[in-house]
Amino acid sequence: MEPHIALLPSAGMGHLMPFLRLAAMLASRNCKVTLLTAQPTVSAAESNHLNSFFSAHPHIQRLDFQVVPLQSSNPHGDPFFLQFEAIIRSVHLLPPLLSSLSPPISALFLDIAAATCVDQLADHPSLSISYYILSTTSARFFSLLTHLPHLTLESSCKNLKLHGLPSFSISNIPPPLFNPQNLFTTQLISNARAISRVKGVVSNTFHWFEAETIEALNSGKTSITLPQFLPIGPFKPYEDPGKCASLSWLDEQPAKSVVYVSFGSRTAMSKDQIKEIGEGLLKSKQKFLWVLKSVIVDKVEETELQELVGRSLLEKIEEKKQGIVVKEWVKQEEILTHHAIGGFFSHCGWNSAMEAAQRGVPMLAWTLNGDQRFNAEVVEKAGLGLWPKHWGWLGERLVKSEEIEEKIEELMQDHKFRSMAQKVGEEAKRAWEIGGTSEKVVGQIIEMLKLKV
Ligand code: UDP
Ligand code: UDP
Ligand code: UDP
Repeated sequence: MEPHIALLPSAGMGHLMPFLRLAAMLASRNCKVTLLTAQPTVSAAESNHLNSFFSAHPHIQRLDFQVVPLQSSNPHGDPFFLQFEAIIRSVHLLPPLLSSLSPPISALFLDIAAATCVDQLADHPSLSISYYILSTTSARFFSLLTHLPHLTLESSCKNLKLHGLPSFSISNIPPPLFNPQNLFTTQLISNARAISRVKGVVSNTFHWFEAETIEALNSGKTSITLPQFLPIGPFKPYEDPGKCASLSWLDEQPAKSVVYVSFGSRTAMSKDQIKEIGEGLLKSKQKFLWVLKSVIVDKVEETELQELVGRSLLEKIEEKKQGIVVKEWVKQEEILTHHAIGGFFSHCGWNSAMEAAQRGVPMLAWTLNGDQRFNAEVVEKAGLGLWPKHWGWLGERLVKSEEIEEKIEELMQDHKFRSMAQKVGEEAKRAWEIGGTSEKVVGQIIEMLKLKV
């Protein structure tokens, strides 16, 4: 019989996107799929995407999960991390919801950011199911996560060597992790503790891209016993009708002439930094499609484009017809697939990195926070792009227009990046050919789900 799988994403588009893709993939392989949707969502992008996803995939069941609001929370805390916390604290509402599903579910896939829920669920008498985690970051960052509960991080050291894993550079570790009281840190640690309780960890990566780390995770030689790490990427886009306006502009541009500039769904930059980016893009003389965000949560975005970019810079951009700036949500995968795109200036969020890898688009990585430096290490090592490490974390220093100009030119004009990225794209495709590394692992997972082992 076809297995019935429930999926539990946490919050933020960087988490929802891979879950929607996984849901569509499992459904296309004859699984019955139920997606739990934590309500209310933090951003408008999440609610919009959920609505369009369920209308395009009527065979996937939606199950709303009303999250209990936090009693007291730091009003200045990151709203997405606060939502992770609210979801985790609402875990007691899940067993009745999950056991009401028909036919009964055989497995639950939890977001790494809500993995700690497994502690209560696995001990619940009404639920006899398998648990998996979907890790929404690189295998490299995940490998650090696995050891976090047992680590005391010292910023005075240069490198961190963990038994059985490739070594880490201390300067790439997100600064909040050095503060044990930080919510980001406490959540990561409790989520990391739950890893050993699940059957497997699926991840949107592929063997060739992170071979050393993936082999290390599955070698049995780490100091912690880990479940199977299951690389099943790159995730394919799900069906999403509708068009985005910037594609029409791209249609008019020559092949590989445009740099796509976007720092993800939730990166708020200062006006000073936005100005330097704009000046840098203009000076580079390259064509550009620049997606701009100035707030973490899209619902509170009120500032007009002109006010963000500055009237004179915006006029210069319009006058020179060298590029366009947009503030709305764009269909990034379609943009990256477009023949006019020749490079991607990105914060190196893991989904963005995988979307570039899948299409062989070279990246200029500007890592801003979280796991992004770990992701950029993977990108750089694989030959998918370049990474100016001295640009610092978000807000650490103002990156000047001349620096941006220089690196954009290098990205777009040095053809070695194009050919190396093309090789990455070919390897990504190979992972999904019949008998390819990811294709095989997905087959094994489905077999395990069918047999309920
Ligand atoms: N994305 C998009 N349009 C936008 C902004 C983001 O399609 O205007 C998508 C992007 O393709 C990716 C996800 O949202 O799938 C963002 O995830 P990522 O891990 O790259 O970064 P985060 O937003 O979590 O920092
Ligand atoms: N798939 C994927 N990533 C890829 C290619 C395929 O996740 O890069 C998945 C896809 O979601 C589906 C299965 O592989 O579950 C088979 O893909 P499909 O037959 O649709 O491939 P297509 O014919 O579209 O290339
Ligand atoms: N993360 C996690 N648990 C948390 C918070 C974050 O496992 O409580 C993971 C998350 O999956 C992400 C990475 O840590 O891939 C870095 O988090 P960040 O907030 O920078 O990324 P985002 O949430 O924007 O994807």
